[in-house]
Amino acid sequence: MATAVVTGASRGIGEAISQKLLELGYDVIGISRTIDENPLKHPNFRALACDLSDEGMLASILTLLQADPSISILCNVAGFGVFEPHEEIDPQTISKMVTLNLTAPMTLSNALLRALKFNEGIIFNITSIEATRHSKFSALYSATKAGLRAFSLSLFEEVRKSGVNVVSINPDMTATSFFDDLRFETSQEPDKRLEAEDIADAIENILQMRKGVAITELTIRSQKFGIEKKK
Ligand code: NAP
Repeated sequence: MATAVVTGASRGIGEAISQKLLELGYDVIGISRTIDENPLKHPNFRALACDLSDEGMLASILTLLQADPSISILCNVAGFGVFEPHEEIDPQTISKMVTLNLTAPMTLSNALLRALKFNEGIIFNITSIEATRHSKFSALYSATKAGLRAFSLSLFEEVRKSGVNVVSINPDMTATSFFDDLRFETSQEPDKRLEAEDIADAIENILQMRKGVAITELTIRSQKFGIEKKK
């Protein structure tokens, strides 16, 4: 049975991707800080609790993951955003965001590439529409996501000969708990926002392409623009 590792699997986009991969027949190892409290109820789902913004904890799960030769999918989903004037963001938040959004995906890719090459597997990096443009109050978040997008596209050039694909998925605003601590949120109107399941469906579509074809980047947007300021 092929195994997928999904970070950020406890909710939102990572949970939707995990559900989809379980439906497609993969064993899923789901990673997040609180994954034990909210495991997906499926016999082929295994929860692995880890704070990926802590480099020590991140290092501690690598040996465990490397012991599984069946890993053929790595989905780097865990991440968070802060959208404030840059001088108002504290250094700990900067460090935490860089580690979670960028260092952890690069470190997990590094650790799992041997198995991914053996299985001719695929890495999905969930970046953001912000990886492709430049927005006010998004310098830190955009830097992490643009970095992850550049990592994805460059790594593909390196590993394509081994049969490994690396995909940068760049979603627009998606209705999840991502916005819980932010000053704005997605529109309530269905054509002005994405759902987490839309991202999972895109991954299913890519996995169904014939072998020998590699989609390396996908930007997913709502048909219409929408954003709500919180009261
Ligand atoms: P979400 O609902 O807030 O989910 C975030 C996930 O990341 C949760 O499973 C969370 O689990 C996990 N996580 C957070 N901090 C972590 C840490 N330190 N260590 C391990 N896991 C951690 O947000 P989402 O919308 O699904 O976001 C998923 C990804 O999509 C993020 O990378 C985000 O930047 C990207 N994205 C989101 C949107 C959007 O509009 N929602 C748009 C573009 C891109 P725990 O709390 O259990 O740790």
